[in-house]
Amino acid sequence: MDDETLLTVDDLVVGFATSRGELTAVDGLSFRLARGANLGLVGESGCGKSVTALALMGLVPSPPGLVSAARLEFAGRDLNAVTAEEYRRLRGREMAMVFQEPMTALNPVFTVGSQIVETVRTHRRLSSRAARDLAAEMLDRVGISAPRRRLDDYPHQMSGGMRQRVMIAMALICRPKLLLADEPTTALDVTIQAQVLDLMRDLRGEFGMSMIMITHDLGVVAEVAERVLIMYGGTAAEVGTVVQLFDNPLHPYTRGLLHSIPRIDRPVRRLEAIPGTVPEFIGRPAGCRFANRCRQAMDVCRRQAPPRVEPEIGHTVACWLYDRAAASLPPRAVGER
Ligand code: SF4
Repeated sequence: MDDETLLTVDDLVVGFATSRGELTAVDGLSFRLARGANLGLVGESGCGKSVTALALMGLVPSPPGLVSAARLEFAGRDLNAVTAEEYRRLRGREMAMVFQEPMTALNPVFTVGSQIVETVRTHRRLSSRAARDLAAEMLDRVGISAPRRRLDDYPHQMSGGMRQRVMIAMALICRPKLLLADEPTTALDVTIQAQVLDLMRDLRGEFGMSMIMITHDLGVVAEVAERVLIMYGGTAAEVGTVVQLFDNPLHPYTRGLLHSIPRIDRPVRRLEAIPGTVPEFIGRPAGCRFANRCRQAMDVCRRQAPPRVEPEIGHTVACWLYDRAAASLPPRAVGER
């Protein structure tokens, strides 16, 4: 791993044992994340985004979950080799996660102050008073007024937007190198969404951390990410910069996603939904995972997994439509920088 790379994910596979056989949630996902970079991980529900985040955080329950990767490195550490205790210390201090619904992540029977203080003291040798001072400072930093008084509130005494700010404060209080944000604004009103996204963008710049923004919303990605990984069926369908993805989408699934959102810079036209839903994959089936929803599917698509090709620099796609360029590329060229 070079000095610039914070996270390397190579051939990540996450399966769950079910009564019908092993359900493959993530299937051979590979990417790299540079220090200070911001990646949008985009796809519909069930495409494997959240499971990917949980696997990176070491939070996939086993059993029934089974995580494997050819290479999984974070800040120079081999995550395949760290113990459960080492992983626990990494979480919160070096990598942190913000969830969609803060009510499920915050404990309703403790004040937000006591929960933030506990997080701080788990990772740093601070007195209760110093940890409480730091908690108030952080609440102030995420835009909560009268932060000292608010420390004594219980989660239910706060609005959804405030609770999400508390979660962000809690995630960032130890200044992690990586923040995983899983649909952090989905449960919020549109105006509050914009405020929280602005806040996260500002804090990322200020703290110099890398971020993986997990979302089904391409509008959110356009706001905060530099690069985007479109995920489908547990693997990367397309990876590129925000501009590449929006101006020149290559994968039929990416095109479908873009056609299903309104664009202010394009003439008004009927929005199209992508027919069908992301199916569950039992085992590791052959062929393209998108074939049953793809209007351009060919015979080969159902027989063989598509090659990953790079039609323009830094823009890769896994699709048989671009097969002619495939021969010139190494097998897993989905480097994320
Ligand atoms: Fe469609 Fe085939 Fe490309 Fe899959 S590989 S997206 S089925 S054209």
